[in-house]
Amino acid sequence: MKFQCAKCSHIFTERTAICEDWRIKEKSFGCPSCKIFLRDPRKQGVGSALGGMAINQAVALIFVFLVFGVIWKLEEFTGVSQIYFYVPLLIVAGWYIYKNPAKPLMAKPYSD
Ligand SMILES: [Zn+2]
Repeated sequence: MKFQCAKCSHIFTERTAICEDWRIKEKSFGCPSCKIFLRDPRKQGVGSALGGMAINQAVALIFVFLVFGVIWKLEEFTGVSQIYFYVPLLIVAGWYIYKNPAKPLMAKPYSD
C-alpha cells in the first residue's frame, strides 16, 4: 500500500511514514519528506479514498463484462474462435497491469 502526501506529493509507504505517538491519530501518520502529519486515507470510510476505490472497481467490472460480451458477439459474426480475441486481450491486460502499478492513496493534512 502506497500513499502520496497531498502537500509535497512525496510517495511513501506505511513503513516509511513517520509516527510520533501511535495512540494519537493526529500524530501517528506523517509524511517522511515534509514531516507533517496526515489523515490516514484508509480510515476515512465511504465517500473518500475507499469510496473512490469501490467506484473504480465497479467501472472495471462493467468494462470486463462489456469486453467479454463484444468478444462473444465477434465470434458469432466472424466465425473466428474466441481464443484469437482473448490472447491479444490478455497481452494488453498484462502489459497494462505491468505499466500501471496500484496508484498511491492521497493523504491530506489535518489543516485541510
Ligand atoms: Zn509531504
